[in-house]
Amino acid sequence: MFGFSLTKLLFTAAIIAGVWYAFKFVGRLNAGEKDDGKEKVKARSSKKSVEDLVQCPVCETFVQADGGACDRADCPRGA
Ligand SMILES: [Zn+2]
Repeated sequence: MFGFSLTKLLFTAAIIAGVWYAFKFVGRLNAGEKDDGKEKVKARSSKKSVEDLVQCPVCETFVQADGGACDRADCPRGA
């Protein structure tokens, strides 16, 4: 019977640990979403002040220098 109770104890501990980590994970997700939102707003406002445009060699349209791509599917900058 000792083996059974030890398994039961470990199982209960595993469930408690699982619930604990689940709550921590959800809390971290919520905090991460808030932080991402702030960073996105900061990035958006900084992009407004500094907009470097470069010409795409293929379609000859001007796109943002930091990873911007034009509407063409075969655009080398979009890859
Ligand atoms: Zn292009």
